[in-house]
Amino acid sequence: MRPVSYCHCEQCRKTSGHFVAATACDIEDLTVLNDASLRWYRSSSYASRGFCNVCGASIFWRPERGEQMSIMAGTVDMPTGLRAEEHIFVADASDYYAINDGLPQYPQYDPAHGDA
Ligand SMILES: [Zn+2]
Repeated sequence: MRPVSYCHCEQCRKTSGHFVAATACDIEDLTVLNDASLRWYRSSSYASRGFCNVCGASIFWRPERGEQMSIMAGTVDMPTGLRAEEHIFVADASDYYAINDGLPQYPQYDPAHGDA
């Protein structure tokens, strides 16, 4: 899985209640063992968000085009083996918190990763 990106875009803030921490993997490498409670919400013209219809957990973000599925990092069982790498969409960050962990910050998406 890709290192964790913190996304501060408005959609992620309003979906999560703060900002999103997400890893990602190639869709072809992802196996969902039980999707009985997995539901998809078309959150924009280019992506859908996967959530649990029992507990409401935000789990996935899937672009309509692209080969990667974003996975909310907090849903991954520990030890995750993950590390945080960057902040994206910091131009949309809310006004009640500071970003001061020293990680790279991008006004929008990281050009190296695209917007997933
Ligand atoms: Zn976002």
